[in-house]
Amino acid sequence: MTRTGLQQALAEEAARWQEAGLDREAIAPPPRGVDFTSNDTLGLAKHPEVVAAAESALRAHGVGGRSARLLGGGSPLDEVAEASVADWLGAERALLFPTGYQANLGLVGALVGPGDVVVSDELNHASLIDAARLSRARVLVYPHGDWRQAERLLAAAAGASRRLVLTESVFSMEGDLAPLGPLADACARQGASLVIDEAHAVGVLGPEGAGGWSALSPDEERQAVLAARVVTGGKALGVMGAFVVGAGAVVEHVRQRARSFMFTTAPSPAISGALVAAIGIARKAEQERLRLRSHARRVADALGLALSPAAVIPYLVGASDRAMELAGRLREVGLHVRAVRPPTVPPGTSRLRIALHASNTADDVDRLVEEIGRFSGPRSSRVESAAVAQAAPLFVTGTDTGVGKTVVSAILLRAAAQLGVAGYCKPVQTGDDDDAAEVRRLAEAGGEQVPPPHYRFALPASPHEAAAAEGQSIDLAALDSHLDHRSSEVGEGRLLVELAGGLQVPLEGAFTQLDWLAQRRPACVLVARSGLGTLNHSLLSIEALRQRHIEPRALFLVGASHPSNRDTLARMTGLLIYEVPVFDSLTTTALESWLSRHDLAPVFA
Ligand code: PMP
Repeated sequence: MTRTGLQQALAEEAARWQEAGLDREAIAPPPRGVDFTSNDTLGLAKHPEVVAAAESALRAHGVGGRSARLLGGGSPLDEVAEASVADWLGAERALLFPTGYQANLGLVGALVGPGDVVVSDELNHASLIDAARLSRARVLVYPHGDWRQAERLLAAAAGASRRLVLTESVFSMEGDLAPLGPLADACARQGASLVIDEAHAVGVLGPEGAGGWSALSPDEERQAVLAARVVTGGKALGVMGAFVVGAGAVVEHVRQRARSFMFTTAPSPAISGALVAAIGIARKAEQERLRLRSHARRVADALGLALSPAAVIPYLVGASDRAMELAGRLREVGLHVRAVRPPTVPPGTSRLRIALHASNTADDVDRLVEEIGRFSGPRSSRVESAAVAQAAPLFVTGTDTGVGKTVVSAILLRAAAQLGVAGYCKPVQTGDDDDAAEVRRLAEAGGEQVPPPHYRFALPASPHEAAAAEGQSIDLAALDSHLDHRSSEVGEGRLLVELAGGLQVPLEGAFTQLDWLAQRRPACVLVARSGLGTLNHSLLSIEALRQRHIEPRALFLVGASHPSNRDTLARMTGLLIYEVPVFDSLTTTALESWLSRHDLAPVFA
């Protein structure tokens, strides 16, 4: 059978994906062995009372939801489930959605739109990212858990009609807690509202397992900034579906406006019935919560990790093939732990996602940590691998070519070297320039620290054109593995990656450097020329990055100092800004003198 153009292109993409070790295995039946993978934390998916409630709902109300809720679909159990969850979380009202993904899409889309601003944690779940994008509000992203930067972004967006901060309470891949209190206080100071996705916290944290926000016992002022919480039914409740929970006025607005509620069939009565039973059991599951806490302590002690407040513990491995190998070894001995790889997590941070269950025994947990220990070597190296096995690269991006990225890279490399091991790479170089050599000279670095570019083309043009002029093309998978290789060479140090030209420059075909960044979602800084046009170029580039959920750590303005531009950009973007002059003579002494007057530590934080 001949393949169409689309099929051929997809097959080639699949091959590249496979080569990079990123393909997902076939959808398998539920694994046998000890479950350290599923989100059925309290074991409610097969709980006899939950199953019985689903059965009796089916008998009473049938299988299907029949139509959308607003068209009379669903069953009376939907409202019972909504009342149960509102009571559990101490809120006025709740609204049931078929899935958590839809709840986030519906909630955010109902609350904000064009002219509004969403301030979002960089590690938020895909459903929150998509919700923010689809809402057509302007999206500003803050580094994970950095409520101070969230507040700066809120302040910078003071002109927006409505500003909403989005965060998970327990992060699904990191297992850590958001700083909910400080975030709420920042919202209060800035007149913004807060949305909390409690998917991984309900059933696990707080009084009666009512989640991270309830665990905080928020006072009235904090309570006033809370727009809504999202509670998913598919995790600790062991069922599926999700609730938007909040004040009556908010929930009613969502009911009237959320497209993913209005235009979708009501969940099966079995789901609502099961949720009612599961909520009742989860509220009383204190023994189970104690067991989870004791398991978490065992894992933390044995693997030298910080104690996780939740039931999700990441064990960082680094390279995706190593993470797969470790998961495979564990599977062989009957322990089911999922390896999580890019694009779910950033490259170089592949990990085991250890999901603890109340049904796991202490022996299961001991066996798990022993096996991981055997794989990772003696305790000291285990602790290292639990930190970061590879340098997370910091990309030096620009608004244009010739804006000063190389000088900024050299400055950053000097600063990074003062903090520890540091390296640089320029994946693609075009034209006569030799940026790596220039960085080597200015940072007084050796060839090991600053090797030659991976691709080098003579034509001074964009990478895709310069490569084509020599009958070549840029292999995107090779670029990724080059970067991963450089990251592992730099180990736990800091790796700077200088891009070629501006963000929207194509690397191959229509795939731009910005597309590459969007895939990797790395830390980055943006370099812009200081002068006429700076505001527009900088703001467009920052918006393009933020739309892809990438938040620059800083903006470098290279050229004559322009206080008005600097202040306008600081006010409009909330970014940290450094001004770098065009040095009369570009020497190591000049760079060192600039560095003695500027603190770059926040860029590497
Ligand atoms: N939010 C978070 C934090 C999640 O982890 C998930 C599920 N992985 C969802 C929302 C989506 O929930 P659902 O699976 O019910 O669509």
